[in-house]
Amino acid sequence: MAIDLHKFQWKLRGWVASFLPPCEEITKGLSRALDQRPSLKQRFIMRLHLYTCPWCTRYRKQIKFVDEAVKQRGHADSIGLPDSFNQATAERIKARLRQSSDQ
Ligand SMILES: [Zn+2]
Repeated sequence: MAIDLHKFQWKLRGWVASFLPPCEEITKGLSRALDQRPSLKQRFIMRLHLYTCPWCTRYRKQIKFVDEAVKQRGHADSIGLPDSFNQATAERIKARLRQSSDQ
């Protein structure tokens, strides 16, 4: 009998996911992680969740992209916007992404 490795992997992921916090908590943690480094335990839980969850993986990519874009703009500083504008804009975008990832 051939072992269906793909099916087995998804079963394993589902099993691992059942021990982890829900997506809602993970996305909050991922947003926070941009501003402050999470503890080893939190990082471990997030890693495991990301292994099991394509939605949170996508969410993480999006917020990282936004965060990096804002940081780069902040360094360039050539358009003369205050830092508070960049921060507020980033927070709004992050909040939006968070909402869309919940749906
Ligand atoms: Zn998730």
